[in-house]
Amino acid sequence: MNKIYLDNAATTPLSEEVIDAMVETMKMNFGNPSSTHSFGQDAKILIENVRRQVADYLHVSPAEIIFTSCGTESNNMIIKSSVSHLGVERIISSPMEHKCVSESILDMKNRKGVEVAYIRPNEKGDIDLNKLEELLKASYKKTLVSLMHANNEIGNIIDLKKVAELCKANNALFHSDTVQTMAHMNLDFSEIPVDFASCSAHKFHGPKGIGFAFIRKSSGLKGIITGGPQERSLRAGTENVAGIAGLGKALELSIKNMDAYTRYMQDIKQYTIDRLSVEIPGIKFNGRSSELDHSLYTLVSLLLPYKNPLIGLQLDMKGIAVSQGSACSSGASKPSMVMMMVLSEDEMDDCTPLRVSFSHMTTKQDIDVFVNALREISQELIIENTNVEHR
Ligand code: PLP
Repeated sequence: MNKIYLDNAATTPLSEEVIDAMVETMKMNFGNPSSTHSFGQDAKILIENVRRQVADYLHVSPAEIIFTSCGTESNNMIIKSSVSHLGVERIISSPMEHKCVSESILDMKNRKGVEVAYIRPNEKGDIDLNKLEELLKASYKKTLVSLMHANNEIGNIIDLKKVAELCKANNALFHSDTVQTMAHMNLDFSEIPVDFASCSAHKFHGPKGIGFAFIRKSSGLKGIITGGPQERSLRAGTENVAGIAGLGKALELSIKNMDAYTRYMQDIKQYTIDRLSVEIPGIKFNGRSSELDHSLYTLVSLLLPYKNPLIGLQLDMKGIAVSQGSACSSGASKPSMVMMMVLSEDEMDDCTPLRVSFSHMTTKQDIDVFVNALREISQELIIENTNVEHR
């Protein structure tokens, strides 16, 4: 069976060049970067070169890039250390954040007594910046705002610069989970006064187990993993040198091809929306998902006009991988917070959300196979439901 992968927001396949760079590093550059001999120093040089490359991409200083194991670790570190080391007493966030952010915030609330205020998004998944401003002005407590750049379920994008400037004007620190946008968009942090951001290489054809945190030098944030002096003592532990080499190669390819990939995937996304709108009557798109200018070009979140908790499994049996996520209430699985925010109760009861996510490797033929399979499953289900109603 020719398998089709449409779950690139979960993870992306590694590029051949990334694999080559990692294998080469594992074979030729195995020294411990903390060692003073040439084997160690060669590994150290590789790490510093990638750090410089990341810093150039973000228009920041290399000292502001700290390699970590993943997006989850970066977000945990930023939120927990802001409370432990920077004296943050209050966090403003939204219920749409990835679990690694929302659970870190909850942990700080439960263990450290941090006050937490959530901004409830509207049914389109938008965060009201007037509400943010109101909350920022409502307290003198040291505040951290944590709002993701792009939502991993529906693809909504916030105006990072506007939010960052609002936080700055109100003396609040600003953290943005940028895992879904790093290496997919141009980001200039010399223009955007964000204090902290996060990255995970496996979201842009790099390896799993490597990411980084952007930590503005002036913030004074400290690490939560203690031990050796690696990563300027912000993240102890021998560095994942091959992973860093893979991240560097993946970033290099993303930057080199960013314009072409963006245009290509926007076209694929629009094609998916158009075909689904024709083939699945009654289909809807969640949040700003179908608006190319206001959502990630890498994904579309759709709402099937019937209840089918098994849809992901049925597509998988046809060789098509999409994400049903923790979507609609089905059996034991709880609905995701994001879906609870953007869907009505009726939609939660009677519909099925599905996330389809693309890469530059996705073709229109892949989309055709997916749409045809979805149409077949939908038609069978509608016929079955009609028969049940007429019995
Ligand atoms: N934040 C967002 C928005 C994500 O989509 C993900 C991954 O799904 C993460 C954080 C976690 O990243 P990682 O898998 O590197 O821990």
